[in-house]
Amino acid sequence: MDSSWKTIIEPFKIKAVEPLGFTQAPERERVLKDAGYNVFNIPADKVLIDFLTDSGTSAMSSEQWACLMRGDESYAGARSFFTLEKTVRELTGYRHVLPVHQGRAAERILMTVVCGPGKTVLSNSHFDTTRANVEAAGASAVDLPVAEALQFDLPGPFKGDMDARALEAKVRALKPENVPMIIMTMTNNSLGGQPVSMRNLREVSEIAHHYRIPLILDAARFAENAFMIKRREPGYSKRPAREIAKEMFSYGDGCMMSAKKDALVNIGGFLALNDAEWVRRAREVLILGEGFPTYGGLAGRDLEAMARGLDEVLEEEYLAYRLRSVEYLGDGLRKAGVPVVEPPGGHAVYVNAKKFLEHIPPSSFPGQALVCELYLTAGIRAVEIGSLMFGEGQNGNFKPARMELVRLALPRRVYTQSHIDFVVEVFAEIAKRKDLIRGMKLLESSPRLRHFTAKLMPEVA
Ligand SMILES: *Cc1c(COP(=O)(O)O)cnc(C)c1O
Repeated sequence: MDSSWKTIIEPFKIKAVEPLGFTQAPERERVLKDAGYNVFNIPADKVLIDFLTDSGTSAMSSEQWACLMRGDESYAGARSFFTLEKTVRELTGYRHVLPVHQGRAAERILMTVVCGPGKTVLSNSHFDTTRANVEAAGASAVDLPVAEALQFDLPGPFKGDMDARALEAKVRALKPENVPMIIMTMTNNSLGGQPVSMRNLREVSEIAHHYRIPLILDAARFAENAFMIKRREPGYSKRPAREIAKEMFSYGDGCMMSAKKDALVNIGGFLALNDAEWVRRAREVLILGEGFPTYGGLAGRDLEAMARGLDEVLEEEYLAYRLRSVEYLGDGLRKAGVPVVEPPGGHAVYVNAKKFLEHIPPSSFPGQALVCELYLTAGIRAVEIGSLMFGEGQNGNFKPARMELVRLALPRRVYTQSHIDFVVEVFAEIAKRKDLIRGMKLLESSPRLRHFTAKLMPEVA
């Protein structure tokens, strides 16, 4: 399409529709209370607009649905596996492809193979399940984001970058043999969905290879990252997103992929590696937990749809629409006086709840208070990324997280512009009476990934 038009449209028409979960205020109050003020416990049919996650919530294309019939369900050596293998090899250049049921399975397998006591994994930022898997394998996980990643009000083109100097210093301090791998998370989900620049990726790759440490990409949102490079990094504006993605992968030695994000499927993932010895050991772990290495816990049809999704996600009309929808939500919130992490990320807008609800201290979970208010007001479901997710200790020894954010993650190809307009209207209304919103008290929680299971209640005025 010629690109002189200002309005970027949804590059699809809708063939199957699904009703939204309309509710009334008294019902939502009851539902939220029954859920222990934790939106993970709310039945999805009581949610109107679901921004909880962009993971596994994509709408598949008619071609992907057709893949479900085309899938080969043979136990071993299914044709669908070879289709996926070919697609992943062509895209990433990595030799060995191991399908898994979702991203964290790839993490668990890889960490089991290469981590252990005394080892430290370094990253621009570990995603929460990545960190949990590193730690479960007895190693430590250290994040080395660039300083501007934590300056939420300041826009920057590549706030997902890794601090390359800090990386080199850390590798020397720890000794290279104690660093089994470096992980580059693209985009950086934990710090605003911000992209990593090619320049930084190249630099990190040079450092990693200088010290003979493998560089592994956490590639869940590789296509969004590639398109932001195209838009923002000098020298890339004329290159196809597919080529940019290939260049990204060329700096790594392998990748872990949650296909629930940029492979546009509802379940799936893979681990792709060059190192034959790592792969041999990874296959053994894979067989123990996921199944035979040509299906990895998935049906043949899932492999088929995943391969197709990896192709579709690199279509530039799709990527232009995708990034525009997130920006559009960010623009609307900014206009409504809601502080957001700048700039909006590739898959989500992150509201700075600490700044929006200044009267609520971190120990009273301002992010969770806003999440609850969004649900009560209009049935919108978002997720807290703050002291409920990352804070430590309870009551007396509370240690806050370094941010109090609320993430509004946009499922791919699911909502239209009027859905976003509605969400902005709700925020504008909440902004008017935000000083009346109360903090939350934590009643119950578990030590790891506690936001999934925590129970809370509103503080009394
Ligand atoms: C979602 C995600 C994972 C984990 O993948 P799952 O499919 O949810 O298991 C890992 N890394 C990043 C950056 C993610 O966003």
